[in-house]
Amino acid sequence: MGEDLEQLKQQLPLLDYLRQQNWIGQRAGQGPEFVGLCPLHPETRPSFYVNARKNLFYCHGCGQGGDLIRFVELSQHLSFRQSLAYLERQSAVADPDAALRQASVFYQQQLDRYPMARRYLEQRGVRDPALIQELQIGYAPGGSLRRHLLAQGYSLDLLRRTGLVNPQGHDALYQRLVFPCCQDSRIVNLYGRSIGTAFAHRFLPGAKGDLVAWESVRQFPSVILVEGMFDLAVLWQAGFRHVTCSLGTHLTSDQFRQLCDRPRTVYLSFDVDANGSGQQAAQALAHRLRAQGITPRRVLLPPGHDPNSFFVQGGDARQFQSLLEAAPL
Ligand SMILES: [Zn+2]
Repeated sequence: MGEDLEQLKQQLPLLDYLRQQNWIGQRAGQGPEFVGLCPLHPETRPSFYVNARKNLFYCHGCGQGGDLIRFVELSQHLSFRQSLAYLERQSAVADPDAALRQASVFYQQQLDRYPMARRYLEQRGVRDPALIQELQIGYAPGGSLRRHLLAQGYSLDLLRRTGLVNPQGHDALYQRLVFPCCQDSRIVNLYGRSIGTAFAHRFLPGAKGDLVAWESVRQFPSVILVEGMFDLAVLWQAGFRHVTCSLGTHLTSDQFRQLCDRPRTVYLSFDVDANGSGQQAAQALAHRLRAQGITPRRVLLPPGHDPNSFFVQGGDARQFQSLLEAAPL
């Protein structure tokens, strides 16, 4: 209890809380003190002091003082226990991680309401409902997330900071299938794949996170690395559970480190596109992996294919297995 209390007070400093409640304080001198009109009693001259370092307030007018909990008890007329519950709710809606989690849940709930989203998934060969749930695939119709999260108590400012809402105040993701990107099993970003005419790939600002599902994939002595979430989805569906995804051909330094965390074979199954960029990236990565003691093998799909299109156009698990076996070192 005592520890939780301290943590709560650290997460939500008294001064921040007061400012959220529209309290206006001026710096009183050089130190950590701020002064303004007392929110607890009517007055015309400021006598309410907040010490930002000690996280305490004191009013020379009404004689009240204490910490954040005390302030909530007095201002909201709540018991100690009620004040704690109130503050826990307040700090949850001030947490960007919680906002991303809620956005992901909301988008997953939308998937079944938009037949065009389901249709797109089917076109990409993703049919298994259990897999869709496991990958937490959602759909961002655009135009409804902001309202939903504001109603839950998140501030517009927080939604802008996470990038869920753009500077103009609109939902950032619009007509996109959405996949959560995780780091240490915490959602740190959302990847949106356009199902319309907009640019295909979109992330929110910030890091793209770990290799996908690395915690479950890393145990395998050999892993398959793909570029895209739809590549991963069809391969998992076909029974290849040792597939991870870097969300693009460029691995972050953290993702590269993960791939090299022990000796293993890494099958690189990038796009075989006309301009050769996928294969060039695979070759460069193979070179870097070899230098770290990893055995890279390049999977040579038929020209014009990525793992997703290979399966969508009739390729099966047995054929893909033969490509793995034939993959040159
Ligand atoms: Zn007062």
